[in-house]
Amino acid sequence: MSSTYKVAIVGAGPAGYFAAQALQNSQRDELTFEIDMIERLPTPWGLVRSGVAPDHPKIKTVAKVFEKVAAEPGFRLLGNIELGKDITIEQLRDRYDAVILATGSGLGRKLGIPGEELRGSLSAAEFVPWYNGHPDFVNVDVPLDGKVAVVIGAGNVAMDCARILAINPEELDPTDTATHALAAFHASSIREVHIAGRRGAEHAAFTAPELRDLPKLEHTDVHLSGDEVTQALTRAGAKGEIEKETRNNLEAMRLIAEHPLAGRDRSLHLQFLLAPKEIVGKDRVEGITFSINRVDGDKIVDTGETHTISCSLVISAIGYTAEPLAGVPEDKGKIKNVDGRVEGNMYVVGWAKRGPSGVIGTNKSDAADVVRLLIEDLKTPKNSKGIEEFLPADHFIINQEIWQRINAKEIAAGEALGKPRLKEVSREKLLGLGKA
Ligand code: NAP
Repeated sequence: MSSTYKVAIVGAGPAGYFAAQALQNSQRDELTFEIDMIERLPTPWGLVRSGVAPDHPKIKTVAKVFEKVAAEPGFRLLGNIELGKDITIEQLRDRYDAVILATGSGLGRKLGIPGEELRGSLSAAEFVPWYNGHPDFVNVDVPLDGKVAVVIGAGNVAMDCARILAINPEELDPTDTATHALAAFHASSIREVHIAGRRGAEHAAFTAPELRDLPKLEHTDVHLSGDEVTQALTRAGAKGEIEKETRNNLEAMRLIAEHPLAGRDRSLHLQFLLAPKEIVGKDRVEGITFSINRVDGDKIVDTGETHTISCSLVISAIGYTAEPLAGVPEDKGKIKNVDGRVEGNMYVVGWAKRGPSGVIGTNKSDAADVVRLLIEDLKTPKNSKGIEEFLPADHFIINQEIWQRINAKEIAAGEALGKPRLKEVSREKLLGLGKA
């Protein structure tokens, strides 16, 4: 006999879609799933829409996989429904056989240094969704009237932020960068962008493909001291064989350091062993002071010396924490879980489960592991109704068909301008596109 289980997935980002795909791939004659994917925004795809850098369109092609998942029988998209506002976790747990939280890590970690609250100091968690047209971040204040910007952190998010600030905005014209951000980049006075990592180059969290892209920038000189790379190689080599990822990173950095500078007016500077100490300024950011670190064996030691960069914009890209959800246990910026099991019929996948690490594809195996446990835990199907009855009769749900309408309209609007899409950034207008 076949049993059909109802599963709610909260969050239509990569982790959510890969969880749905894992459920679909686990179906067999005697086991099928009805999947409701609940999303608070009128648009799905999570970080693929509002996180991935617009000048990296190839990464966004994974959305095709998501749309294939959505086309499978038994899958429903229920967009414009917010957990904690329109429905509660208790209602979901009651109605569904299993609830999978795929709500990500939306909050930027704080530096916790003086001056962090000054105008011109912001988190990548605000800057990235601002330039990507996330409806909740359209009004973020991003002052671009100074010449110098500093990005804190040596990870791929810092790299995205710095690159987007440092390139000629004409390179963003044929992308889906939000219109308001593109206009701001065209008017921007920023010409010099610094990335500052607090440990050595050998400890950087960048990945090699992202580093290898830097010498290819057409309008931006990338500065990295060859000595810095040599010292990092020496330090890493002194500990034995250098790990493959570190070796690849340092080789990519060597290419950057050796790449001739062309005297362009736009520059990007990679610097290491600089720990942020204080953001300085009266009413707005005027500079940032770093403690200069050195590597001593396995330790990072403050030399007692400082280095100040005069700048008007500081973006911290030092990781994320999950937003707390009512009725869901939290633990150090993640949803409390053991291998993805939260409690009862509640599960978690993606960054909300393991913290903000890994590329989009990491979520595939991660979700498959959690779905395996979920299936082990299944009992008799509940056969209960969906959640629509908890919503007011006039609540406008963005289903797959309506989303496809919005998607087609954005793509058509972009086509005329030579862009992959022209994003609508107002929640009301997105709903309007869906209704029209
Ligand atoms: P990340 O890779 O964890 O890097 C965070 C950086 O912030 C590290 O260099 C860390 O230094 C630094 N940091 C943390 N606390 C700090 C502090 N108080 N002061 C100064 N620096 C501090 O995180 P992420 O860049 O947010 O990226 C998240 C994940 O998304 C990563 O797995 C990344 O690869 C992925 N991602 C991938 C792409 C892509 O594939 N193109 C693009 C974007 C993001 P320590 O190492 O010293 O802690």
